[in-house]
Amino acid sequence: MYDVIIIGAGAAGLSAAQVLGRQQRRTLLLDGGAPRNSPADGVHMYLSRDGYPPLDLLAAGLREVAAYPSVEVHHGRADSVAGSLDGFTVALLDGTVHHARRLLLATGQVDEPWPVPGVPERWGRSVFHCPFCHGWEARGRSIAVLGREPAQVMLAAYLADRFSDDIVVATDGPHELPPSVLGNLTQLKIRLIETPVAELGGDLDALELRFADGTVLPRQAVFHRAPTRQGAPFAAQLGAELLPDGYVRVDEFAQTTVPGVSAAGDLARLPALPDGLTLLSQAAADGVRAAVWLEQGLFRAALPVAPG
Ligand SMILES: Cc1cc2nc3c(=O)[nH]c(=O)nc-3n(C[C@H](O)[C@H](O)[C@H](O)COP(=O)(O)OP(=O)(O)OC[C@H]3O[C@@H](n4cnc5c(N)ncnc54)[C@H](O)[C@@H]3O)c2cc1C
Repeated sequence: MYDVIIIGAGAAGLSAAQVLGRQQRRTLLLDGGAPRNSPADGVHMYLSRDGYPPLDLLAAGLREVAAYPSVEVHHGRADSVAGSLDGFTVALLDGTVHHARRLLLATGQVDEPWPVPGVPERWGRSVFHCPFCHGWEARGRSIAVLGREPAQVMLAAYLADRFSDDIVVATDGPHELPPSVLGNLTQLKIRLIETPVAELGGDLDALELRFADGTVLPRQAVFHRAPTRQGAPFAAQLGAELLPDGYVRVDEFAQTTVPGVSAAGDLARLPALPDGLTLLSQAAADGVRAAVWLEQGLFRAALPVAPG
């Protein structure tokens, strides 16, 4: 019986494992593979590691966690979870089954870029989703924004405000954008193209958006706020509440609505926030917060005299 099983070894899961290891908690950390930002050349906004390769950051985290003997790292994926407070079961794809008193879900989100040929292949390398992560690198460049939902298209307005005066929105077919969004595009001199997109070719600084009518638009950067989905179904399997946009609902202690189950990182958010703050530093902080409160809960539950 572990004290805590952490599912997911990205910034959130690794940070939590380090906290629990330092408190000598028997912890199993399940490392299911690549983190969300793995296609990117470097991480940004992670103080002291600007431009650092994403996988090197996690390798360093794994090395640090290895210093704490109460933490076991298992490189494999969880398949299903069940149980309740003090008695959770995690079944792995390799057929092994593990038990824990508490669970920490840190399985992140998965991006699902439009299946336009050339777009998924360039995801994170020359097709970017986040102006905080990659806007600086695209400053002063000619930019195409792919999207037809208001939030996807308003990314163009943000980029026009901060980084470039040469922005085109491609909706890849007809759109139903509200007048307020269209009004902003017009005022900010952002052109909107409804012609279906056939393909994205080239690479960073020399991209080509090729349209179905044969026209070609050279661009230096492409932004696309791709839809996302949960990286794993475990919160739903356990009956934890999801918010309408699919995030796992957590409170200030990183607890889900299921006792004994916490969630940290990109998969979860406080209901008071308008959107998830899906950044590495935030995920690491979430992991620390979740682990500290899990630790406090385990300590208080084991006290010989129940705290008043
Ligand atoms: C292209 C790109 C670039 C980005 N660049 C930046 C940046 O520069 N700066 C920044 O602050 N943020 C950046 N982000 C956001 C950043 O990647 C996320 O905020 C961060 O990775 C979230 O950490 P996490 O631990 O919650 O999830 P992740 O890092 O995604 O880790 C989740 C882990 O859970 C594992 N997992 C999933 N299912 C299972 C399972 N069944 N069993 C076991 N393990 C499982 C996954 O394999 C993964 O390792 C970027 C995102 C993208 C897409």
